[in-house]
Amino acid sequence: MTEKLSHEEIEAKKRTFDENYKKVLYNIGDAAVKSGRRIEDIRLLAATKTVDVSVINHAIESGIKLIGENRVQEYLSKKDELLPCEFHFIGRLQTNKVKYLIGNAVMIQSVDTIKLAQEIGRLSVKNNTNTDILLEVNIGKEESKAGFMPEEIMEKSHEISEIEGIRLRGIMAIPPVCEDGGEKNREYFRKIHKLFVDMQAQKLDNSIIDTMSVGMSDDYAEAILEGSNMVRIGSALFGKRIYF
Ligand SMILES: *Cc1c(COP(=O)(O)O)cnc(C)c1O
Repeated sequence: MTEKLSHEEIEAKKRTFDENYKKVLYNIGDAAVKSGRRIEDIRLLAATKTVDVSVINHAIESGIKLIGENRVQEYLSKKDELLPCEFHFIGRLQTNKVKYLIGNAVMIQSVDTIKLAQEIGRLSVKNNTNTDILLEVNIGKEESKAGFMPEEIMEKSHEISEIEGIRLRGIMAIPPVCEDGGEKNREYFRKIHKLFVDMQAQKLDNSIIDTMSVGMSDDYAEAILEGSNMVRIGSALFGKRIYF
């Protein structure tokens, strides 16, 4: 849940964002150039869970164009107050909550079952819209994490790309937690990048495979160096979270 903050605390959080945002942009630009790209080639998604709406709006006014929430309830509590921005859903999603996202989420990044993809498609068609999706891959094969297994993702992407109402855009992953920054995770990032390239090579119908959404606060530079083109950053922008 979003924390309840005093006016002073909110102002302090805005200043924290301002300082952090500069550093994050610098690091993204640096990693982009080192990987033979430009900063414009990398999309920054601000992961805004637990962040107060007024701080999110300050971030949007400062240049953030894309935000991600990972709980439907929390998103709905903020939605009406948010300034215009592109919204992606990035958390675990039950099929009975898909209805709240259709028409609001430009992209649902955390599709981890065929059933979920079908429900997103069904409700999108019903609402005369299209929803972009990413397939989440459980790259570390962790029991605690959602996502398709790496070895099944190609087959599933074929099946999913044929569902009406959705457009498959690529792959998303949350690699295992590493203590020493992102260096150890580079091997996972390389594996995810290989899956992304293989997915692109399949020439799937109704799909534009252009998004590899990998890299969070502790490892976004390494993720970019290994080919990521969308990083999802929370605490490195907004400061440490008290709740999850
Ligand atoms: C919270 C969250 C992030 C951002 O995490 P940080 O470590 O704070 O950058 C990214 N992706 C997902 C799916 C998240 O839930």
